[in-house]
Formats: sequence, C-alpha cells, structure tokens
Amino acid sequence: MKTFRLMNPLGGVLPFTFLPGQFLTLTVLTDGKPVKRLYTIASSPTQHDYVEVTVKHEAGGVVSGYLHDRVKEGDLLDCSGPTGSFVFTGRECKCILLIGGGVGITPMMSVIRYLTDRAWAGDVYLIYGVHAPRTSSSGRRSSTSPAATRTSARSSPCRTPRAPTGRARRDGSRRS
Ligand SMILES: Cc1cc2nc3c(=O)[nH]c(=O)nc-3n(C[C@H](O)[C@H](O)[C@H](O)COP(=O)(O)OP(=O)(O)OC[C@H]3O[C@@H](n4cnc5c(N)ncnc54)[C@H](O)[C@@H]3O)c2cc1C
Repeated sequence: MKTFRLMNPLGGVLPFTFLPGQFLTLTVLTDGKPVKRLYTIASSPTQHDYVEVTVKHEAGGVVSGYLHDRVKEGDLLDCSGPTGSFVFTGRECKCILLIGGGVGITPMMSVIRYLTDRAWAGDVYLIYGVHAPRTSSSGRRSSTSPAATRTSARSSPCRTPRAPTGRARRDGSRRS
C-alpha cells in the first residue's frame, strides 16, 4: 500500500470540500489512453490543505501499478470529484460500528479522523480484518484515535500475535 497526499497545484486550500467516506476519480494516461479509477479519501475533511488516498498495488493493475511505480512527488494527477453517498458525519446516529477489511479501511479512516477531530461524543467501534499483517493500510499512521475502539482480525497467523484471528460472528465471538 502507498499513501499519496494530493494538494492544490496552485497552492492554498483544496478547491473542493468533501464528506468522510467520499472518493475521488483519478485518471491516468496509459498507452495514450485515459484510464479512470476511484480512490476513497482517507484523510479528514477537517484538513483543508490536502487529501490523502491509500492505494493497494494490485498485481497487474493498470492504475494502481502506475501510481505505485511511476508517480513521483511533485507530479500532477488528474483528479475529479468528490463523489459518493456512503458517508458518516456524526449526525446520522449516536454511535457507530465500522466493519472493513484490507484497503477497504480507507473510508473508515476518514470517518474516524473526522469524528475525533471534531471531538464527537459518540462511541466508535472498528472491526478490521486483514489477510496478513502487511495488508494493513494503517501501519505507522494507524493512530485512528485513542477514543476509538479497534478490533483487528487476521486470517493468517503471525509470529507475534497481538490480535485475534479468524472470522467474526454475529454475536461478537470469533471462529478460527
Ligand atoms: C468506490 C470505490 C472506492 C475505492 N477506493 C479504493 C481505495 O481507497 N484504495 C484502493 O487501493 N482501491 C480502491 N478502489 C479500487 C480501485 O478503484 C481500483 O479498482 C483498483 O486500484 C484496481 O485498479 P487497477 O487499475 O490497478 O487494476 P485493473 O487494471 O482494473 O485490474 C484489476 C485486477 O484485474 C486483473 N485484470 C485486469 N484485466 C484482466 C483481464 N483481462 N483478465 C484477467 N485479469 C485481469 C489485474 O491483473 C488486476 O489484478 C475503490 C473502488 C471503488 C469502486
């Protein structure tokens, strides 16, 4: 996974606003043809100077491969949006349970960062599944919030297990 920080090339604040959970459309030129892919904004809307997108490198993937292997700091990217109605701003209900896996954590990162930036009073629970430790998009920057409760689960074992493994069940227990 790589996280890209996108800023206004003209300087200053972003030329758009967004809600936590929304995504951008990135267009890259490969073999002279424009190819579009969607990437969820993982940063918080409270940050007006940049957005961050976290991209998983898909083996043989056109756009994720381009972003991972060819894009350098300072390059211009064609990006449009934001779009999407899978959003949570804290007004919808009084607590939230987020369930995600792998790079699907990206909208949840934005939601959690936004809620904690705004000192949202509700409880935030996160159940997060990864195939293996390297799949995690959070890494160093996983500081979602001390206020958020995070439960991680891996489907494969690791040498220093710190989180339960197996699949979550409806009653909250887990099955290996
Ligand atoms: C709303 C939304 C939000 C998203 N947010 C994120 C995000 O935050 N982060 C993220 O990483 N991704 C996100 N995605 C996924 C992202 O949009 C891309 O689909 C992903 O990056 C793969 O694109 P790609 O061009 O790299 O791969 P593609 O070129 O589309 O290929 C995908 C896979 O299919 C295989 N493939 C392609 N063509 C063929 C073929 N002809 N035969 C057999 N196999 C083939 C490739 O080898 C590759 O493994 C999101 C998608 C949606 C819909």
